[in-house]
Amino acid sequence: MIVMKFGGSSLASAIAIRRAAFLVRSEGPRNPVVVVSACGTTTDQLDAILEDASQGRAYLAWTKQRDLASQYYSLASELLAGVEVVQIEQYLRDVFRDLHLLTIDLAENGRELTPEIRDRGLSIGEQLSSRIVAAAFNRAGVPAVHLDARELIVTDDHFNEAAPVLWETYAKIRAALPEPTARSVGGPIPVLAGYIGATPDGRTTTLGRGGSDFTASLVGAAVHAEEIQIWTDVDGVMTCDPRVRRNVHRLTTLSYEEAAELARCGAKVVLESAMSYVCPLA
Ligand code: ASP
Ligand code: MG
Repeated sequence: MIVMKFGGSSLASAIAIRRAAFLVRSEGPRNPVVVVSACGTTTDQLDAILEDASQGRAYLAWTKQRDLASQYYSLASELLAGVEVVQIEQYLRDVFRDLHLLTIDLAENGRELTPEIRDRGLSIGEQLSSRIVAAAFNRAGVPAVHLDARELIVTDDHFNEAAPVLWETYAKIRAALPEPTARSVGGPIPVLAGYIGATPDGRTTTLGRGGSDFTASLVGAAVHAEEIQIWTDVDGVMTCDPRVRRNVHRLTTLSYEEAAELARCGAKVVLESAMSYVCPLA
């Protein structure tokens, strides 16, 4: 079994999601489990919406929600067809209605933006992406089944930075993802949201920003995966992390030895391609 985790940049458009489907299909014989981040910058957008609402800027929060919703309606119509679009649109309507009610409560009823409410809002990104990606994979001829991460990742109630309750989480993941021998090879590929979980009494939590990689490693550890792949959409391997230094260059060639050395030193990106992955399990 392997875990393939796709970051926001590798799910930021219909083309990117189709490319992810292609990559997953090519790993089919290794029984992939797919973990997804929110598409593109959705989590930041949700954060801004919640912040505006909590500061009483109801109109701004509303326009940002409208923009976010329209991105998802377009994504759904580009990726899906027929009854699938109708189903996803119904789902989108429900999700955005709930978000709207939440922001109204914050902006107009003076409800406080507690860490718990923030997690409820921020978790929407991964809830949306995991549903859409699973549906898009099916449409692209890669049979997939959506699993609700909140039923698998059990956490404490430190909202915004929740810690998983490991053994319970592992047990739930193992029950949901039986060993490949017990699972018919070529069966549907499980797709679940990274970053989000729930307390034992069912309140939604998040594992901290960037937490989808953590989810991927929880899934990997639970099923003793032979590999965890962390996919991200980049132009290539840079001489340094461009978020750390400006004036970095893209490498034109890189030997396997150099790539291995980079990985050992903690480089995020080690393979040059349209999408790159890191982290074979030690
Ligand atoms: N979507 C979340 C974030 O942007 C989690 C993740 O991407 O790993 O922080
Ligand atoms: Mg993200």
